[in-house]
Amino acid sequence: MSPAIYRVLQALLVPAFILGLAYAAITFGSALPDSLAGLRVHGAVIALTLSIAVSIAFGRGRVVFALLSLALAYAAYRHFPLADLAGPAARIVFAALCLFVPVNLALMALLPERGALTGPAMRRLALIAAQAALTVGLIYIGGNDVATWLYRPLLPGALTINSPIPQAGQAALLLALLTCTTAWLITRSAINLGLASAIVAFALAAHGLANPDQFAFFTAGGALILIVAVLQDTFRMAFRDELTGLPSRRALNESLAAVSGRYAIAMVDVDHFKKFNDTHGHDTGDQVLKMVASRLAHCGGGGKTYRYGGEEFTLLFPGKSLDQALPYLESLCQDIAGYRMAVRSPDRPERTGPGKKNRGVKRADKTVAVTISIGVAEKNGKLATPDDVIQAADKALYRAKNKGRNRVCR
Ligand code: GH3
Ligand code: MG
Ligand code: MG
Repeated sequence: MSPAIYRVLQALLVPAFILGLAYAAITFGSALPDSLAGLRVHGAVIALTLSIAVSIAFGRGRVVFALLSLALAYAAYRHFPLADLAGPAARIVFAALCLFVPVNLALMALLPERGALTGPAMRRLALIAAQAALTVGLIYIGGNDVATWLYRPLLPGALTINSPIPQAGQAALLLALLTCTTAWLITRSAINLGLASAIVAFALAAHGLANPDQFAFFTAGGALILIVAVLQDTFRMAFRDELTGLPSRRALNESLAAVSGRYAIAMVDVDHFKKFNDTHGHDTGDQVLKMVASRLAHCGGGGKTYRYGGEEFTLLFPGKSLDQALPYLESLCQDIAGYRMAVRSPDRPERTGPGKKNRGVKRADKTVAVTISIGVAEKNGKLATPDDVIQAADKALYRAKNKGRNRVCR
């Protein structure tokens, strides 16, 4: 199986597990002892409250927004009550939930994070208030007519699903699920997968409208899925470097604390990178770092790549001696030196004035080359700790620089 498909399946395990738990709770909920029977109603409230608190603490306003949508849906379910959809008010409220909840969750996959208790995040909440106001307004103004209109069939009979969810709501759920899933596959953000899975949880809750346990436990499942997504995303932020996507210095320190037996460590530094930044600009510098990082990440020989900081990287070869790691490092040097990166020469003239009319005229793209220098060391009798090995690799890196760069030294 290709690693990409493997990672997708692995990521799906968590939401699938939580949805399975919710299903088990629905199936066995009635067997709960009396002392725990309250969980069938309050479990969802507890899960929602906990998730909202954690999301606020972690500054995840998009998740707070999604959870508030789910919480409002659950409150409406209990308040009206919706279970038997008796009367136009209940029908309008349920149809509105089936439209607004998926729209809100999909929106959160598309909009950027703006924090939890910030002005922009608060302004977003006005959308939920407007949706609630619109729903109440429709009940008072339209009543039965609006209910009939909301539940009108959109599809020919053969294609309909036997569900209390109106067809417009089914379409909204499907579109929202596609949106969040696409956003997840592009960004690989745990939050986007959480939003997609929460849409599935809400669809299952709404489909089981008549069974209060089903609505409650799938709502709780959706909340738990989102809380786990927040934790996974925070974990990734701590251990991944944002620019290059490589494991960060913190991840390196954890790996070094766990490494044992024989290993080799290489320190990598981009040559004359300051000059490169000065000549081509910081954005192009960032692009170079990404290019170097992605080549280092595929170094082979079991080497793991980390961004040490700035334009410096570390490669850890567990179980390898210096001599075994060396050929992989040599070929990395050659690989990167041979790579031609297209850069756009700056469009803007340095000064305003006579050059002004050149502004906006794109000059021809050109290619640039970058080189790296590498110092490598291995664990041995003299270099007993990872710190010792890193220091030795650093010294070797200085030798590589002094000998003219674009080379590996030991
Ligand atoms: P040497 O060949 O001796 O390594 O020369 P150098 O210019 O690469 O060495 P130096 O350490 O003086 O410069 C490193 C520069 O890397 C300084 C800083 O401008 C740049 N830099 C560090 N981090 C980043 C980053 O995240 N993005 C960009 N674009 N530049 C960075
Ligand atoms: Mg440096
Ligand atoms: Mg450098």
